[in-house]
Amino acid sequence: MAGARKGARQGIPPVKAPRTGRAVKGRRRGKAQPSEVFERLQRTYPDAHCALLHTNAYQLLVATILSAQCTDARVNIVTPSLFARFPDAAALAVADPDELETIIRSTGFFRSKTRSLIGMARGVVERHGCAIPDEMDALTALPGVGRKTANVILGNAFGRNDGVVVDTHVTRVSNRLGLTKELDPVKIEQDLIRQFPRDHWTLLSHLFIDHGRAICVARAPRCSLCPLADICPSSLV
Ligand code: SF4
Repeated sequence: MAGARKGARQGIPPVKAPRTGRAVKGRRRGKAQPSEVFERLQRTYPDAHCALLHTNAYQLLVATILSAQCTDARVNIVTPSLFARFPDAAALAVADPDELETIIRSTGFFRSKTRSLIGMARGVVERHGCAIPDEMDALTALPGVGRKTANVILGNAFGRNDGVVVDTHVTRVSNRLGLTKELDPVKIEQDLIRQFPRDHWTLLSHLFIDHGRAICVARAPRCSLCPLADICPSSLV
């Protein structure tokens, strides 16, 4: 399968053919139709939403920083006590690093995350009067906040479709669907925003993430259960 071989070359786990000795039927080339992908995934995952628990932009920003190299479920275990102890940017800005490291240790990379959290909070206090900014440039100027994190905040805390969040699931699913041939998140995002209307961008990443977790999983995608199987160029069914 051309698509799978190319994906393997670029580091995307390929869709492996079943070991039945039979030819795989229905192999398609090219890419899936974006509007059809969106509509079908929306029907499949009607409750798709940000999995990080939060009640405001500050909490979502903290949770998103903690989610690097960590599952959302683990972050959601840690954040209630963290938010109780440091309820806003002003409190977090003067946090004792040792205490913060202890609270977030189980999320991994806790020393660098502690530096990012305190640096971010200080930036919010000093430059934005304790309010999380709602602009891409202002967000990405904060320590520990990249474009992906900023897109999470803008889309889910402020309802702004400034871009598409590209994580490992979005990378894998969009490559398998032929919607991009890139591995660099910024290039993948550019490919996706060209193909989907702006008001779909935030939900699109939730749909791809849900699909990547439930069906289009990394090692053995469940193509036989996939609602996109008949339009996906990487489908094995
Ligand atoms: S058919 Fe579905 S599960 Fe299989 S590779 Fe395509 S999107 Fe993934």
